[in-house]
Amino acid sequence: MYGLQDKVVIVTGAASGIGRESALAFARAGARVFGGDRDAEGLAETRRQASAQGLRLNVSTLDVSLPNDVEALVAEVLRSEGRLDVAFNNAGITGGAHRIEDYPVDDFDRVLAVNLRSVFLGMKFQIPAMLQSGGGAIINTASVAALTGPGGMSAYAASKHGVQGLTRVAAMENAARGIRVNAIAPGWTETPMVAANSRQNPRFAELARTAIPAKRSAGPGEIAATALWLASDAASYVIGQMLVVDGGMTIGGFEP
Ligand code: NAD
Repeated sequence: MYGLQDKVVIVTGAASGIGRESALAFARAGARVFGGDRDAEGLAETRRQASAQGLRLNVSTLDVSLPNDVEALVAEVLRSEGRLDVAFNNAGITGGAHRIEDYPVDDFDRVLAVNLRSVFLGMKFQIPAMLQSGGGAIINTASVAALTGPGGMSAYAASKHGVQGLTRVAAMENAARGIRVNAIAPGWTETPMVAANSRQNPRFAELARTAIPAKRSAGPGEIAATALWLASDAASYVIGQMLVVDGGMTIGGFEP
């Protein structure tokens, strides 16, 4: 039920953080993993870590906001394996922290392109590939910012709210065709992205940590574990959901 042996899997953002941890976790589960990222050095490090664990991992550099790059990765996977079973559309950026009136328009567009357009493009090319080989599972990385309004992060929150919308539409369009589409909304997860964000916005970082009921951040492996579950047949009736993995951050309410 939980088996992912020989499944053919694409993971984007595989050069760092949640994507790297997920690529390694899928590989440990026996899947044939294709990790994509724009950061060639980071991808090489992910591959090095895989080899050190006796795992095989294919890597490709791409910009997930560009249609030709995204299409080329899916085509490469089909050429090599003849099928695609799972896609984890996970690459993303936070963008700067500015009030809306100060938010640079080009920066807004870039965050939307990397975080939202990329998920649309991923699914646009992954869905036909999965239909060819009898279905599959797609997981998109949203964020708790898909449910909340973190001040200063208009582009990020808008992009992640959008990921939830795209996930629902894709799930609706494909549930009867054997493709399950879901999203994960991680909370505060210890990755290089969060380290950079904390430096940029230390007050928010401190607030976030103390507000988490679990009183700790997540490790990237805890998000990877959720992706593996959603990809597996153990989640066979989970469709169109955004699974919040946040140590209780968005429960609301307060401690007694
Ligand atoms: P990270 O910075 O460690 O990893 C993100 C990866 O995406 C990097 O390797 C980066 O090179 C890659 N990337 C960025 N732009 C790209 C592009 N245009 N094309 C290809 N690759 C690109 O960050 P992370 O924390 O692992 O984030 C992964 C995902 O999780 C993101 O979508 C992020 O928004 C989401 N997320 C993270 C947190 C957190 O607390 N870390 C919380 C909620 C959501």
